[in-house]
Amino acid sequence: MEKQRFLFLGHQDLSGILRGRSVPEERREMALAHGLPWVPGNYSIGPTNVIPADNPFGQQGEIRLLPDQAAMLALPAYGGKPAFDVVLCEARRHDGAPWPYCPRAALKSAIGRLEAEAGLTMKVGFEHEFSVKGLNQVAHAAYSVASGRAISVLADNVLQTLAGSGIRLEQFQAEYGTDQFEISSIPADPLTAADRVVLTQEAIRDGARQLGLHASFIPKPAANVAGNGVHIHFSLYRGGQPVTAAQDWLTDTSAPFVQGILDHSESVVPFTCLSANSYLRLRPNSWVGAYVCAGLRNREAMIRVVPRAPDANGGNPQASLEYRASDGTANVYLALAALIGAGLDGLRQRKTPQNIAVNPQTLGEQERQRLGLRLLPQSLPEALQAFDAKAASAWLGADIIEAYFSCRREDVRQFCNNASDEEAANALQRIY
Ligand code: GLU
Ligand code: MG
Repeated sequence: MEKQRFLFLGHQDLSGILRGRSVPEERREMALAHGLPWVPGNYSIGPTNVIPADNPFGQQGEIRLLPDQAAMLALPAYGGKPAFDVVLCEARRHDGAPWPYCPRAALKSAIGRLEAEAGLTMKVGFEHEFSVKGLNQVAHAAYSVASGRAISVLADNVLQTLAGSGIRLEQFQAEYGTDQFEISSIPADPLTAADRVVLTQEAIRDGARQLGLHASFIPKPAANVAGNGVHIHFSLYRGGQPVTAAQDWLTDTSAPFVQGILDHSESVVPFTCLSANSYLRLRPNSWVGAYVCAGLRNREAMIRVVPRAPDANGGNPQASLEYRASDGTANVYLALAALIGAGLDGLRQRKTPQNIAVNPQTLGEQERQRLGLRLLPQSLPEALQAFDAKAASAWLGADIIEAYFSCRREDVRQFCNNASDEEAANALQRIY
């Protein structure tokens, strides 16, 4: 008998995990057209399947997951398991009205504000770093042919799966850390790019399982090993023309946008670094961008300014800005919406950043103070203290903030107060 081809309707929840339910083939058309009912409280399920006691949803209510067929991934049959298509959904009320907790809707509205208020559009590309267990390499030589070959079977699998769904990738490499690899995606508009992050991560995890491997985006697998970042490269356009950089630095548009992200970094980082483990990665001297600053080609700056090739008119059409303090545990929709919200606020304030081209850690404390350089929060509890709920509510809506931070407080309880960093990393790398 032919195996089923299941269709999974899902959404990335407040812990950055893709959850949903599946239908058999005969229900496929119905589900694609009308979506499926879903439980609001499921939005708050954490990485160990605990729903925080103070979640705003309780046991009541029902919403609807409405699929967007532009965000679809066909996972192939393997090892006796049937083919499994995944389609990403937006959560709405049954009458079709917006549901104020939906991260994908929050990103859509942030994109709308960027366009309406500032006349800007954005393109976003991602570099996904991840660790792979089970490769059995004799040695991991960073960026080498040997380690590139070791990952090439998985890369081929992922490339083919994604290509089958119209998603192309830019490149892959054996990264610096042992059994650490990177796959980067081609830039797209923020919503498409965010959908592709969710689907790419699932394709990587699923491809690894097909090959008897385990791939994880855990931000800091262990102390003293390289962290896994998911760097966000973005560029800005006005009327379709690039306005990210001129010559070798920011423009009148991008400079205040970047300053807004720097000023609000404590309110952005809880969305780009979701998990308790995320904050163990944010250390100086690890190319993470742990210091709040922007710097030309500087991998120790939170925002690296990456001008590629200046053109004859003084423009820099290939330039991008790389936000480095982000990782693969994030709900990518909220992460991008927060970046856009902070950037838009910067455009209102009209302040501009200085270029920090050195590694801030090599400067003395006094010099750092003179330059106004501060470290990002070094733990999840510290991040929750430093966070400005009012600013973030303006970007994402007060409902999302309330639900999101009830999840993070539960994370603190489980992974900071009741587990060692090592225990937490071990638990979280099974999920992320
Ligand atoms: N692994 C580093 C991180 O945690 C980034 C290294 C790189 O520049 O690619 O973000
Ligand atoms: Mg990298």
